[in-house]
Amino acid sequence: MYETLIKELEKKDVQLVAVSKTKPPDAIMELYQKGQRVFGENRVQECVEKHESLPKDIEWHIIGHLQKNKVKYIAPFISMIHSVDSIELLTKINNEALKNNRSIDCLLQMKIAVEDSKFGLDGASILKIIQSDAFQQLKNIRILGLMGMGSFVSDESITIKEFQALKNQFDRIKEMKIFDESFKIISMGMSGDYKLAIAEGSNMVRIGSLLFGSR
Ligand SMILES: *Cc1c(COP(=O)(O)O)cnc(C)c1O
Repeated sequence: MYETLIKELEKKDVQLVAVSKTKPPDAIMELYQKGQRVFGENRVQECVEKHESLPKDIEWHIIGHLQKNKVKYIAPFISMIHSVDSIELLTKINNEALKNNRSIDCLLQMKIAVEDSKFGLDGASILKIIQSDAFQQLKNIRILGLMGMGSFVSDESITIKEFQALKNQFDRIKEMKIFDESFKIISMGMSGDYKLAIAEGSNMVRIGSLLFGSR
């Protein structure tokens, strides 16, 4: 599975985040041996433990909702945080990055799904954050793009519209020239909808069950 998927993604210049939440270290090492280095986790504690026990050249991404009081545990090593959904969280990440004498790459999570259980910012809130004075002060974070989760619905046209909304927001921010060319990541698409997401402009997919199976 991995080899087929990675070939398909490489052809389209799409990066794979292998979502390893709840998966044991040996399952992660299996993909590591095949060359995978970017893994996604949604819980801080689990991410810290895996970072400590697994090879240090793994790039860990946090993809799940992140509480401010837990940022300090991942700040020393995290490669990317996909789930930034407030200026308060962003400020906290900045301050913890500063303490660790580093910069942390972040994506802003946009709420695109019609289901209201999903976290994330609406388009207007994203613009408000990146145009705020508070945001200008944050020198130890980099916003590299946007992340979103589509609805789990059988009607593909709904998911497609959601992905288009994220892509449009991304393009709009790009045109504002607030960021340099490092603003380039569109993180959307999971096991069930990554093909749709790529067709709508995704360049980073977060795939778990398809890779690991649902053990
Ligand atoms: C679990 C998860 C994924 C991966 O989902 P699969 O359906 O297993 O591919 C992607 N993104 C987020 C935010 C997740 O929590």
